[in-house]
Amino acid sequence: MLDLTYDSPAPKVIAGATGDWELVIGLEVHAQVATNAKLFSGASTLFGAEPNSNVAFVDAGMPGMLPVINEECVAQAVRTGLGLKAKINLVSAFDRKNYFYPDLPQGYQISQLYHPIVGEGEVLVEMGNGLARLVRIERIHLEQDAGKSIHDMDPTMSFVDLNRTGVALMEIVSRPDIRGPEEASAYILKLRQIMRYLGTCDGDMQNGNLRADVNVSVCRPGDYERFMETGDFSHLGTRCEIKNMNSTRFIQQAIEIEARRQIAILEDGGEIVQETRGFDPEKGETRSQRSKEEAHDYRYFPDPDLLPLEIEQAWVDDINAALPELPDAKKARFIANFGLSDYDASVLTAEGENAAFFEKVAEGRDGKLAANWVINELFGRLKKDDKDIASSPISAERLGQIVGLIKSDTISGKIAKDVFDIAYTQNRDPDEIVETEGMKQVTDTGAIEAAVDEIITANPAQVEKAKANPKLAGWFVGQVMKATGGKANPAAVNQIVSAKLGL
Ligand code: ADP
Ligand code: MG
Repeated sequence: MLDLTYDSPAPKVIAGATGDWELVIGLEVHAQVATNAKLFSGASTLFGAEPNSNVAFVDAGMPGMLPVINEECVAQAVRTGLGLKAKINLVSAFDRKNYFYPDLPQGYQISQLYHPIVGEGEVLVEMGNGLARLVRIERIHLEQDAGKSIHDMDPTMSFVDLNRTGVALMEIVSRPDIRGPEEASAYILKLRQIMRYLGTCDGDMQNGNLRADVNVSVCRPGDYERFMETGDFSHLGTRCEIKNMNSTRFIQQAIEIEARRQIAILEDGGEIVQETRGFDPEKGETRSQRSKEEAHDYRYFPDPDLLPLEIEQAWVDDINAALPELPDAKKARFIANFGLSDYDASVLTAEGENAAFFEKVAEGRDGKLAANWVINELFGRLKKDDKDIASSPISAERLGQIVGLIKSDTISGKIAKDVFDIAYTQNRDPDEIVETEGMKQVTDTGAIEAAVDEIITANPAQVEKAKANPKLAGWFVGQVMKATGGKANPAAVNQIVSAKLGL
């Protein structure tokens, strides 16, 4: 496999009144596990169901109910860990995080504080132009989601929907390795891409499927390097945590705004108070929600209803052996096997379905030409029609046929666009279209010569001009193409026109 090596991008620098500041960011990403049932009950996880219709007794916190671990959720967490090249902990344990909230009827959230199922891993976050940030993962743990309080349906009452209560989440905690707003959103999108390849999280940010708590601090140039050398956090600034973000655009805005807020305080001789803040996109500001002093004492303790979770290496090995090819590997292979540019390979591997479609088009054909047709013609057209690859009106086989027809000089690239349009809109077979519509390229030099002769004879004045100025030969080429309905092989026409004009 091709080894892609990248340089690290420069950190985001903000110039303050007293000198430069650098950004330091660490993310806690909550990814909803893609499973049919909840983490500790058999209730459905289907999105958009009638409120409170997917609630088992255990989700509702009924007395005497016992949680039973859903094996598939564990497998999904292991898969995710393996996809992030992380250490899988064969023994992990569940703890209770105690707090009261109407959408949490148990009175505690079951999470993994002390012994998470997944340990240290890493994610390569490409930033374009041959640059990439390697973001280290600290841990991934499994935990329950809470329900949803609804305050805007009635002027005097609040409602609660427990459908989401107890749904499995993976909390993916990064090291503070992210150095700018763009890196933060690229990091989330990379996690999303990997999890979608793995099938462990749908990554639908609008539905709250993937959300992030964003930790931001600022420091002076050189401080981050000192932190990396020593591991001593005191070289970094105090962080604030912006809670529950589910849009990459807002994450970028919030980071920038929060960093500037901190810089203003520090340059004014103030101190940053560690706290959780919320982002208000309309006002364009972050606002304090609660400070460290008011932090809840969650009184974590091991959940007595659940035994430590023990899994076997052989089971992990089986999961590992069945993992699909992941984005980095696929991209490297596309570059090596099909001769694609870094950019084209990134576009084609962004989604697994797109990559699979491209491979069918390119199989046994010119990879670059296939990439061109998939990215520019097909993706362009799908986007225009607001369709995705799964609902593409033209199949990979048929698009492959078109690429083959171009490559074999049966049709020109220009005619191919017409063939594509007919195949796409009329659901027809490209070979059949070319045959029935008489679209084959004329490569028969005799026929082209005849057409050239005819035009030369009919336009003596043009011939004189072209002889004086060879650039004007293009006019003849254009006339021949017109006369042949665009079907003449352009290279052959060029050559014959030049020869006949004696250029
Ligand atoms: P807590 O358990 O209090 O949330 P963690 O040590 O688990 O604290 O850190 C939470 C997140 O904050 C992690 O993603 C970590 O990388 C990030 N983080 C820690 N220190 C900083 C810092 N100085 N600046 C930015 N992010 C930080
Ligand atoms: Mg935290």
